[in-house]
Formats: sequence, structure tokens, C-alpha cells
Amino acid sequence: MSSTIVPEQSRRSAPAVLAGGNAERRAALVPRLIGWQGLLVQVPDTWDLTGFSGDDQTGYVRIDDGEEMAVEVKWATEPVPRRKSEAAKTPSVEVRRDSYFRLLRKSAKKKKMDLAVKETDAPKSALRSERVATGFTWTADRKATGVVWYCETCRRTVIAQVLGSQGGRAGFGTTAEAVLGALRCHGDDPDWRTWALYDLQTEVPTSYRLESQELMNVYLRLTFARKTARLTVEQWALANVARKQTYLDIWIASNTKSPELNGARYTVVENELHTHPAIRLTGGLAFGLPMLYAGREALRFQWPATRFGGAAWECEPSNKLFAVSHLRPARQPALADAVAERTRCHSGTGDRK
Ligand SMILES: [Zn+2]
Ligand SMILES: [Zn+2]
Repeated sequence: MSSTIVPEQSRRSAPAVLAGGNAERRAALVPRLIGWQGLLVQVPDTWDLTGFSGDDQTGYVRIDDGEEMAVEVKWATEPVPRRKSEAAKTPSVEVRRDSYFRLLRKSAKKKKMDLAVKETDAPKSALRSERVATGFTWTADRKATGVVWYCETCRRTVIAQVLGSQGGRAGFGTTAEAVLGALRCHGDDPDWRTWALYDLQTEVPTSYRLESQELMNVYLRLTFARKTARLTVEQWALANVARKQTYLDIWIASNTKSPELNGARYTVVENELHTHPAIRLTGGLAFGLPMLYAGREALRFQWPATRFGGAAWECEPSNKLFAVSHLRPARQPALADAVAERTRCHSGTGDRK
């Protein structure tokens, strides 16, 4: 394994190492969109998410090609000023760069490695009117080109670097410039956030935070939470093998790992999504244990989540099955249909970019 220099302090927990790898990659040279915690980046299509930690306030993400190149991003969000009259604090990107250099030096010393760091201007591709930005490069056992910026729109300070091997493949500079230039710390729509990894691409309201995930080759699950409400997006690959002749509602009910869907009692209506036959689920909590939970939430003075909505469909062109499930308090709006519509299945649908 490569020895990447990443400041350990930035990680609240060790980044999860994910399954996935480069299997089943299409040969097309379309850049791959990765969306994670509000961050968006276009990377070469052989790259994918391989590590992450933290949340949308402070976090870390690593995307790599499984061999020698990678992009790593860390972010920290400035708090919203308490009073409207107060201006948001603008952190100094030079100070952030200095402290990053200190961490690099410490790490290099520990590993008894030679390290050369250099202050540079920010790569031109990463300049935006809402950003204060500066740049850096370093060389140790690997080499890196990076950028530090503060964004006035989302109040994030972002440190991003593209890593390559020392000897380096030709074109490192071009790739680094392109990837850093494609990195965005916030999307166009402040109310919706794009989550894109492996072959899944969906959009979820910004008010929902990622609570848990399962990321495997044939099955992806993202579960989001907003107080007592829960929202889960699931995607299965190899739909033709998995489902065979089973009715969609029966297949989904027996294969879902969504706690909301498993705990719900609902009726099924057939409809259409992304031009495919689909089902729509509407209902509430099943009796038994989930009811007990609802009772507990009521005791904690939170509105219990009692309304259930879901949507599921099979996409033949992409050979995938999708399910969206949502459990919410009665006073919160239903979301399953909107999220299903914003979940991309075969090319050209659900893509609101
Ligand atoms: Zn931003
Ligand atoms: Zn489709």
C-alpha cells in the first residue's frame, strides 16, 4: 500500500476502506461524478471513493484509481454568525496551509522521509469569485499538487491535493489541474445535495445528514436522518440475476435492508419512474416494535415518525434495481417520490445537473 501523508488529526475516525475497486468499469472516457457531503468532483472514470470520515461540517474523503493517483479533500465549516450584523469569519488560507505543512513535516519525520514543500499560487483552474485560494506542492515518497481555499458561499475551508507516484506518469500536472479545477465545495441548489459514488447517483435534501451506509459491489445503501425522520436509497446491481421472475414488491420486501421499509405497513400501487414500470408504497408503521419506538420518541418531545412512503423500480438498460424509502413525522412533507425522481438510473434520466 502507498504511504500517503494525511494529517491524522483531521480524522475523527479511521476512514472506511471500501469494497469496489476497478472491476466492472466501463471503458468510456466520461469523467465520473463523485458527490459526498456536499462536495462534488469529476474524476477520471477509473477513480472512485475509497475512504471517508467525518460529516458535512468537518470531514475527509479520498478518491483514487486503485494504483498510484488519488485526490484527497479535507473540509471544515465556519459556524454561521449568531447575529446578522456579524460578518462570517474568514479564515486565512495561508495559516491553514502553514499548519498543513507542519503536519506533513511531522509525518515525514516520523517515517524518516525527505520532504520538500513549496508554497505556490492556487492552480488557475481552482479560482472562483467566491473563493480565497492559495496553493502548494510537496514531494516525499510521493508527490502532490494542492490547493487551499475558503468559500464564502458555503463557509468551508477546503484543502485538496492530487497525489501521484514519485517518478510519476506523464500528465500528472494536467490531471491534477483538471481534478482540482473540477472540485466544488457546494452544489448549485442549496436545498438538495448530490450523493454520487460507484454507480449510484442521487439527490437528498440538504437538511438530511448521512447516518449509515453499506457500500458493496452489488448493493449500495445510503441512510439519511433528520431528527426522527429517516430516508434510505438502495441500489442493487445485476437486477436480471437477482430478481428473476419475482414480483417487484415481493422482491423488494424480502431484499431491502432499509429499516424504514422493514418496519412499515403499506399498500402498493403500480406506476412509472424514469420510463420503467415502478411501484409506489404508502403507509405507516407496522404494529409491534416500531410502534414502541414511536412512543419513545413522543416521550422525548420529538414528533414521532409514523408516515411511510416508498418507491421502487427496475431499470433494464442499467440492469439495476432501486428502492427509496422514507419514514417521517406527519407534519413533514413526503419525499420518496422526489428522491426517486432525482435518482439516476440509465443515462439521461434523473440527472438534473
Ligand atoms: Zn463552497
Ligand atoms: Zn433507467
